[in-house]
Amino acid sequence: MSVAQEIKARLDIVEYIQQYVPLKKSGRHYKACCPFHSEKTPSFIVNTETQSWRCFGACSEGGDIFNFAMKLHSWDFRQALEELGRLAGVEVRKQTPQQREEIQYEERLRDILRTAAEAFHSALLQDAPDSQAALQYAVERRGFSLETIEKYQIGFAVDSWDNLLIHLREIGYKDDDIIDAGLAIRNDKGRIYDRFRNRLIIPIRDERGRVVGFGARALGDEHPKYLNSPQTPVFDKSRLLFGLDMARESIRQSGIAIIVEGYMDVIQAHQAGYMNVVAQMGTALTEPQLKLIAPRHAQRIILALDADEAGQNAMRRSLEVARQVLQDDYAGRLSVDIRILQIPGAKDPDDFLRATPEQWPQIVETALPIADFIINLETEKLPPDASIQERERAARAILPLLYASEDNLYRKANIQKLAMRLRIQEADLLAWAEEQ
Ligand SMILES: [Zn+2]
Repeated sequence: MSVAQEIKARLDIVEYIQQYVPLKKSGRHYKACCPFHSEKTPSFIVNTETQSWRCFGACSEGGDIFNFAMKLHSWDFRQALEELGRLAGVEVRKQTPQQREEIQYEERLRDILRTAAEAFHSALLQDAPDSQAALQYAVERRGFSLETIEKYQIGFAVDSWDNLLIHLREIGYKDDDIIDAGLAIRNDKGRIYDRFRNRLIIPIRDERGRVVGFGARALGDEHPKYLNSPQTPVFDKSRLLFGLDMARESIRQSGIAIIVEGYMDVIQAHQAGYMNVVAQMGTALTEPQLKLIAPRHAQRIILALDADEAGQNAMRRSLEVARQVLQDDYAGRLSVDIRILQIPGAKDPDDFLRATPEQWPQIVETALPIADFIINLETEKLPPDASIQERERAARAILPLLYASEDNLYRKANIQKLAMRLRIQEADLLAWAEEQ
């Protein structure tokens, strides 16, 4: 029996679906309104004999418990296998003793991180003066509601060298594991101390909602302003999108993912009710990050990075990554519509959302298609009296990008725009594009 068959044999499809959909017995089957499309008359049927489900309405789709779990949670098969395997108590992978040890080690680190998140969070809600000051900072300066603080488990690291360390040791965690989890540091003299001190703490979760690291914001003018967990066996911020655990459903439904720079931007957007926002956390977008959302969940990606120079550079690098990744996969044509959002007044999303949350949807509408953005970017750099050589160089830099678009009409319009901007004949542009 395969692992998947073994899992299916141990789980009951009705019991599983029942957790998410209110099934009613109807003859030999179970019935409900379909969770995947909106309807008033139930056309979603679960068949206990064949252990399968089917929507006889708009979806006209069905399958087994795996298909259901994958569709509902936007999981790939591997994830469904792991999650349902855990539920069924079936070991999904035959593991070597070494692999098992590694998995246990990582689970131990995540356990410590979860415990630390709880400790930080309850420290923020203490009745002590320093806790009160931190809470006041979170509410007044960051603009977080109490509900948001609860939902994101925002916390406070007190100004102490060993407050968390002592707490974790008391529970029985080992120093080496606490250090490996990124929560403590051992100096040259062998002294161990808390990494995060006197900071507002934002737990960073993976796409499955597990705490894997922390972001820590200074409460005053201390440097650095932001201090993140170091890279650990469970935390690699280049493979993670902050907020994806909360945002995935909204991204899946809208088909649009908005990528911002930091966790503060994400929390602010979610608090304002715009859930399809995730953060790449400071670095330029990477291939693993992109693949978490596109093209499976998002058909449009909007990059809304900060307006400062670092943000603009990150934007350019992100575009390059997006272009390569999506091109590699899709026969040289971009299958995902990538847009660039520039927020007026050179604000970052966090500031904008705090000041005028109601204007966010209109601003998002102004996001430029990638080609327009690049044409603007490259042509704005040229002096008004640029030589024909300079203009040709700019054109040759832009053309491959225009040709990466799937849409002929769109490409034609962009060639025209480029010709006008650069004062170059369209025929010349087309000829150069042919050469490449
Ligand atoms: Zn349906």
